[in-house]
Amino acid sequence: MQIDILTLFPQMFESPFSTGILKRAIDHKLVRINICDIRDCTHDKHHTVDDYAYGGGAGMVLKPEPIFEAVESIKPDIEEGVNMLPIILLTPQGRPFSQEIAYELSRYMHMILICGRYEGVDERVRGHLVTDEVSIGDYVLSGGELAAMVVVDAVVRLLPGVLGSEASLLDDSYATGLLEYPQYTRPDEYKGWSVPQVLLSGNHAQIANWRREQAILRTLERRPDLLDKANLSLEERRLVDRLKQS
Ligand code: SAM
Repeated sequence: MQIDILTLFPQMFESPFSTGILKRAIDHKLVRINICDIRDCTHDKHHTVDDYAYGGGAGMVLKPEPIFEAVESIKPDIEEGVNMLPIILLTPQGRPFSQEIAYELSRYMHMILICGRYEGVDERVRGHLVTDEVSIGDYVLSGGELAAMVVVDAVVRLLPGVLGSEASLLDDSYATGLLEYPQYTRPDEYKGWSVPQVLLSGNHAQIANWRREQAILRTLERRPDLLDKANLSLEERRLVDRLKQS
């Protein structure tokens, strides 16, 4: 996969992309990340990227020309056709980012992420350039860079070969509509708190049952809204009903 990120602050991406799973994915050429400085697509001597808002009001707005030009400069490299290329604006007004959207984006060969700043971007970018708008939550950040990092991290870990064990993706929270079961490691007793016996039993069927039940219980306690859409057996639905009543 190739990911192009348009930003006014390229240096912000140095540390997150040079550590852990993202670094490994880049080193193994499972993803190519190209950081494009929007300022490089200006042609005046001050490299102007923003201007006052028409109609007045506080704050500056990112001008359309450098952003259009930055995207146009990437497009000629694209073999798969424009429809196959999501051009995503990070904005608090976008569709709420989720594991489902991360899976959806992980199926593309290429995507472009546009990071806004200040009061945001000129509306013509939203209306005539981008194909999608994504928000990472109902709050306002100072810029789209942190949001882009969140999207990249969530998408890249889903790409084939990126994680050591892809089986771990299957149990992750949200993968099947449930939160993940509780995890324990050694020691089996710490400050008088023991690891559940079943996990030490070596009985894989019992462990799988226990984990499934715990995932359902945890989801019911913390995110009951997820259960309506979760893929549960009839027996599990009955268990949920019983737990709700008790
Ligand atoms: N005035 C804008 C509004 O109220 O919708 C907010 C602008 S914000 C200060 C600057 C930039 O940060 C945005 O253009 C966007 O790229 C990014 N941003 C802020 N909050 C975000 C969020 N929750 N998700 C994604 N991007 C966000």
